[in-house]
Amino acid sequence: MSITKHDWTKEEIIAIYNKPLMELLYEAATVHRQHHDPNVVQISTLISLKTGGCSEDCGYCPQAKRYHTSIKTNDLMTVSEVKEQATKAKESGSSRVCMGAAWRNVKDGTEFDQVLEMVRTINKMDMEVCCTLGMITENQAQRLAEAGLYAYNHNIDTSEEYYKEVISTRGFEDRLETIANVRKTNITVCSGGIIGMGESIEDRAGMLVALSTLNPQPESVPINALVPVEGTPLEEEKPVEIWEMIRMVATTRIVMPETQVRLSAGRINMSREGQAMCFLAGANSIFSGDKLLTTPNNDLNEDMKMFETLGLKNQQPFAKVNQRESIEAVDSKFPALGEKPKWTRPGHTIERNLEASTKGK
Ligand code: SF4
Repeated sequence: MSITKHDWTKEEIIAIYNKPLMELLYEAATVHRQHHDPNVVQISTLISLKTGGCSEDCGYCPQAKRYHTSIKTNDLMTVSEVKEQATKAKESGSSRVCMGAAWRNVKDGTEFDQVLEMVRTINKMDMEVCCTLGMITENQAQRLAEAGLYAYNHNIDTSEEYYKEVISTRGFEDRLETIANVRKTNITVCSGGIIGMGESIEDRAGMLVALSTLNPQPESVPINALVPVEGTPLEEEKPVEIWEMIRMVATTRIVMPETQVRLSAGRINMSREGQAMCFLAGANSIFSGDKLLTTPNNDLNEDMKMFETLGLKNQQPFAKVNQRESIEAVDSKFPALGEKPKWTRPGHTIERNLEASTKGK
């Protein structure tokens, strides 16, 4: 029987985060060993299905069309293009593919049908398949589940309080609603956040309260360090120090002992020694590939050398949850409803977002 605690308070989490580092690391490493093999790390690959042109105003994101960044945009990829990338990822040791599309929310129609086909295709390749497509309804989550989706990613990004300082085009409660819709299916939940956006330690703890008090807790929690991109509102944020990342990973591990903690964006700026401390602190997944959606990522050969040096092994797919059944579109019990849900548009003003959107290059 799980003894996972679901009533963490902000004060308790701040106290953990602020422990002397050696004590924090020891505690996190102990929890990690009780629930995971400390020598196994999953390699995941992120595929950007549709890049840029997004209507949202997330302050960290170069894919928001209102900001003046130099990312290369692309329309929705084809199923065969995705299959080709997934095949390469599998050959390189990935056991999980995460497919992202820069959408505010999923709309029923041919593009979503195409994504469902991609899910079926990757599921049949015996890889864990995850999607991050923005907000989804319960019906859309059921359709993804039928296609064989293993995980749905929907990051809460930061604390509820600080969320309002980063995004004005949707509310924190929309994020929780999508997570709740995913939870009504057999899809696992992936939700985490970003540090280094100017938030306080209280906000970091607030984010972990929001995630750890979900019951069940998310099966997967990505911890990202902001990679500031020129042209975005957060372009001038100071780089996250490795010690902050280690503390965040360790605290996440302690409050969510069973989850897969993913060392995500920002790894490019970490030394091998820094990453090793993150693995000791409980991180058990990395993303491979030269890009993480739009920002640079570590070289795969370098990662493989690091695995060898540290004696790490790749996690096999479906080590945590069984592979999902993949049902063909013709046998679906959940036809598209063509819903037009009213997701929130708080529309409050965030000065730095406004400035970035009006500033030319
Ligand atoms: S994070 Fe997602 S929703 Fe926000 S602007 Fe970027 S692509 Fe759009």
